[in-house]
Amino acid sequence: MAIATINPFTGYTEQTFEPHDEAEVERRIAAAESTFLALRSTTFAERAEWMRAAAQLLEDDVDQVARLITVEMGRPIKAARAEVLKSAKGMRYYAEHAEEFLAPEALADPAAVNASAAGTRYAPIGIVLAVMPWNYPLWQVLRFAAPALMAGNTGLLKHASNVPQAALYLDTLFERGGFPAGAFHTLLIPASGVERVLRDPRIKAATLTGSEPAGRSLGSIAGSEVKHVVLELGGSDPFIVLATADLDAASTVAVTARNQNNGQSCIAAKRFIVHTDVYDEFLRLFTDKVEALTVGDPLDESTDVGPLATESGRAELAELVVDATTKGATVLTGGTVPERPGWFYPPTVIEGITPEMRLHLEEAFGPVASVYRVADRDEALAVANGTTFGLSSAVWTNDPDEEEWFIQNLDAGAVFVNGMTISYPELPFGGVKDSGVGRELAAAGIREFCNLKTVWKG
Ligand code: NAP
Repeated sequence: MAIATINPFTGYTEQTFEPHDEAEVERRIAAAESTFLALRSTTFAERAEWMRAAAQLLEDDVDQVARLITVEMGRPIKAARAEVLKSAKGMRYYAEHAEEFLAPEALADPAAVNASAAGTRYAPIGIVLAVMPWNYPLWQVLRFAAPALMAGNTGLLKHASNVPQAALYLDTLFERGGFPAGAFHTLLIPASGVERVLRDPRIKAATLTGSEPAGRSLGSIAGSEVKHVVLELGGSDPFIVLATADLDAASTVAVTARNQNNGQSCIAAKRFIVHTDVYDEFLRLFTDKVEALTVGDPLDESTDVGPLATESGRAELAELVVDATTKGATVLTGGTVPERPGWFYPPTVIEGITPEMRLHLEEAFGPVASVYRVADRDEALAVANGTTFGLSSAVWTNDPDEEEWFIQNLDAGAVFVNGMTISYPELPFGGVKDSGVGRELAAAGIREFCNLKTVWKG
């Protein structure tokens, strides 16, 4: 894939970029390595000051960066602005809490291990390579970069090929905030260039957010090099609506949960699993609210849903819907590619999904909601857990026993009750099954890329 900004609203190629050649990649790895040796001996307070300054720069640049996101991947401008501010908030969060999360711990009873003192410390490990997706071009990167740098590591970013301007903005952000040059850099390389960088002995670990095939590939290379990885991959999250749910609130939240970011979020609710007693009423409310969404120019402040980020992504989504309707599913709204410029796909609601349909098995990365009717909570759970994914989940109920039962039994990295999945700096984020390994955010996220060093004193 060419490294280029192609505006999804117009299909026009705004700018193309030459990939970094081998010499430039080597220069950036060498800078990250030498900077690590200096950065590891700086204090949390110094790094926190630089991180806060970088967050401030990002906040100052909010309009410019939001526009850049919208032009590169089609995110509606209001949401793009919110993403920039959330990223700055995440940076401040780690500036505030890194030292506490990585504080040394002492064993209460060192005599049990024949020591005068014993315990653990967290030490940085070196250069962490991040391979990142286009769907939240700032937030995905900063939720890796902020904890990595606060821990004293250095970072190299291989961003998705369709968001090079976001990648280049991030290339200088930390240095502008005060971090030493080389603490964080972008590598403008194609996906095919990742293996060579990952196998370099100076790279100590890697994190990838993206599709399952990309995760499997990176994970196997890292495994062969005995390097730690975090993988944040796809999801097909269930949104379960039970008989006691508040249907008005559930249907309103369901619309956002499915259509945010033009439906291109790993943690978007993708499968709506509804108890038969409330199925018709929920579906009526939900479909009406989906039809009320404003689809249009993502730079327009009133737009709810813009175009998909890539033409190929739209084609894949359309294929899933055609496959389902050919096999007997019913489209209640949307479901056809519109005759207009740009890579639009309409917000779609589809029912009658059966196990042989691709929509049942694969991730729909766009605004397509699959709705299932279930007879009881056992069937709801079976459908919810019946995919290879396990990223997050949502359950709507006002019955405390039912709530607890789903929290215990859903195979997912998170359960949100009477709400939709949102990533917060304060809460760990990650999946089980084919949705990934490891955690980002909160204390767990910063510890992923540290050496937990045991210390024993005689
Ligand atoms: P993608 O095609 O896997 O691309 C993600 C990144 O991986 C890009 O930088 C891409 O580079 C690179 N890449 C692709 N194949 C690779 C390979 N074999 N080896 C090394 N790098 C490779 O995914 P996407 O289409 O951009 O993003 C959508 C997917 O990401 C969805 O499945 C979504 O659910 C998932 N996602 C997960 C999370 C989470 O936190 N769990 C968050 C957001 C998105 P190029 O662009 O150069 O190909």
